[in-house]
Amino acid sequence: MTPVNPPAASNFSAQDKPDWSLYSTCIHCGLCLNHCPTHRVLGLEADSPRGRIYQILQVDEGRLPIEESFVTHIDRCLGCLACETACPSGVQYGHIVERARAQIEQHYQRPWLERFARDVMFKKVLRDFSVLARYARWLRFYQQSGLRWLARHTGILRLLGLGAKRHVRGAELSHGEQRYLEIGIALATDPEFLLLDEPTAGMSPQETQRTAAFVRKLAGHVTIVLVEHDMEVVMGISDRITVLNYGEVLAEGTSAEIRENADVRRVYLRD
Ligand code: SF4
Ligand code: SF4
Repeated sequence: MTPVNPPAASNFSAQDKPDWSLYSTCIHCGLCLNHCPTHRVLGLEADSPRGRIYQILQVDEGRLPIEESFVTHIDRCLGCLACETACPSGVQYGHIVERARAQIEQHYQRPWLERFARDVMFKKVLRDFSVLARYARWLRFYQQSGLRWLARHTGILRLLGLGAKRHVRGAELSHGEQRYLEIGIALATDPEFLLLDEPTAGMSPQETQRTAAFVRKLAGHVTIVLVEHDMEVVMGISDRITVLNYGEVLAEGTSAEIRENADVRRVYLRD
């Protein structure tokens, strides 16, 4: 990385701040990306070690505020340090992210429920073995009593926008709602990823729009592989796109890259 001079006022305070000697070892080679579990699952640069270092540097140089999106990307890091082992440049990623987390605690106000849950977990449960054992017993009861089933399934219906129709028979739902119900049934099996084959087929433009927004929302909960011919839907909601032509991969990339790809334009847009 090259230092940018002069840096604006830092959004970090001096105490527990990552310093330039830590950032400067990252040469942006990207060799760590495939070793990072969050990048492999989410496919986002912002959820990779390189992307996180970049964001931390941006915050340190006053170019990015400490707000929800930054905190989310740092929170998602599992701290597994697989990236450190893979890094040929010896970046001490663990030191960087630990200090960024210390800064977040100093400068970011989390929502009250999250603060409460973190307080209980870090200050009460994890500090006292007898409390931890009591929580484990409650957790076992929650899993075995069916309460978890109920919470998960009513949660899925709410997520699908079908909470108000939970007593309506499936056959009486609209075409679009029946498709949501199918997705809900798949979600209830706790899948690692969801394969959706043309989920908007046969839908009105309004239903298509709603479904696209809904699939995008689902992507925050589970990895989704979407097979779709509606280019507006594909371009509007996908993080990564693979374009096939007669069963062969024609192009891969983000929607912006695919829009500009000469082969895709020639084959699909007849440019
Ligand atoms: S492997 Fe190391 S040097 Fe390369 S991008 Fe990742 S952290 Fe930076
Ligand atoms: S420590 Fe964080 S950034 Fe590094 S590989 Fe693990 S999850 Fe990815």
